[in-house]
Amino acid sequence: MAEQKRDYYEVLGVDKNADEAAIKKAYRVLAKKYHPDMNPGDAEAEKKFKEASEAYAVLSDPEKRRQYDQFGHAAFDGGAGAGGFDFSGADFSDIFGDIFGDFFGGGRRSSARNNGPMKGANIRTSVRIAFEEAVFGCSKEIELTVKETCKTCNGSGAKPGTSPETCSKCGGKGQVVFTQQSFFGTVRNVQTCPDCQGTGKVIKEKCPDCRGTGYIPMKKRYSVEIPAGIDNGQSVRQPGLGEPGVNGGPRGDVLVEVIVGRHPIFQRRDFNIYSTVPMSFAVAALGGEIYIDTVDGKVIYDVKPGTQTDTKVRLKGKGVPSLRNREVRGDHYVTLVVEVPDKLKPEAKELLKQFDALAGDTLNSTKAQFSEVDGNGDGNAREGKKKKFWK
Ligand SMILES: [Zn+2]
Ligand SMILES: [Zn+2]
Repeated sequence: MAEQKRDYYEVLGVDKNADEAAIKKAYRVLAKKYHPDMNPGDAEAEKKFKEASEAYAVLSDPEKRRQYDQFGHAAFDGGAGAGGFDFSGADFSDIFGDIFGDFFGGGRRSSARNNGPMKGANIRTSVRIAFEEAVFGCSKEIELTVKETCKTCNGSGAKPGTSPETCSKCGGKGQVVFTQQSFFGTVRNVQTCPDCQGTGKVIKEKCPDCRGTGYIPMKKRYSVEIPAGIDNGQSVRQPGLGEPGVNGGPRGDVLVEVIVGRHPIFQRRDFNIYSTVPMSFAVAALGGEIYIDTVDGKVIYDVKPGTQTDTKVRLKGKGVPSLRNREVRGDHYVTLVVEVPDKLKPEAKELLKQFDALAGDTLNSTKAQFSEVDGNGDGNAREGKKKKFWK
């Protein structure tokens, strides 16, 4: 008698009422863990793999599952004999497609791609620019270490006088198909050839300059055009300057991230610029012309008489150009702030006092109030003081 078989649900670790998706998911996990390819020579893993596959073959088939639920293992004892199991009808292809997809980075589709031309990797770098350079665009030099074709071997990687040989393992195809006879049929796996890494060629004597890679890292300087309107953190793409492609594929790109320095006066939000501009009390009160700094230089602004502090004005079209069309620009918003003088000449102080006496006598307002309060007598001065303070 064959050894006691475990319950299929227990093998997969699922509930008796588990649906198709749950069963498939449970099997995927186990198959991946115990697959013979992942555990070469491990008899215990192989046993577990077979056990799980058998359980899956039954429970994934509604008819077989129904029989198993009714009769248990006895349902299948007749046909295949002890230790054997008839897997016809069970579909593993999608499962293994999934699993090998995970193992080899995309399954059959990607192994085909491994052999074909592939674009090289992108290189990321960054460049610092000034605020105005971001607004109006600029040209910046970047230095990169890039792989260049080795001149000694012309990129073949083989020592001069020798040449790469066709890989004997894959016959130059770059892929190997290995066929595995499993208890549930034949499994064919296509893998990137381990000897030549998919290139189909093997280098026996390596080029001494590039150590067989075919490339030499070189420092290169490039000029990068930074478009007007670019903002901090955005990148400029330089196509074809990145790492070399594989099997004749094009080079990758260089992505230059732009880091914009802070400006002492201007702040930027999207395509608008913000700044604060001081104006004297006289200009605020009487009106007059002031200079306002913009990214285009100074402009003269006519302040209206009686302008309050914190008044906001918009300078249309003095903002940052749009990346798509540099003729289209944002606006510049200016906050006008009244500047209070802190160093006045004695004459100016005297005149200001005279001015104040004419304009409401604010310098003496509390004195006037206290004398009033005192006039009421019986110590209400404190009360009056408090009132004044909180008013
Ligand atoms: Zn070389
Ligand atoms: Zn090969």
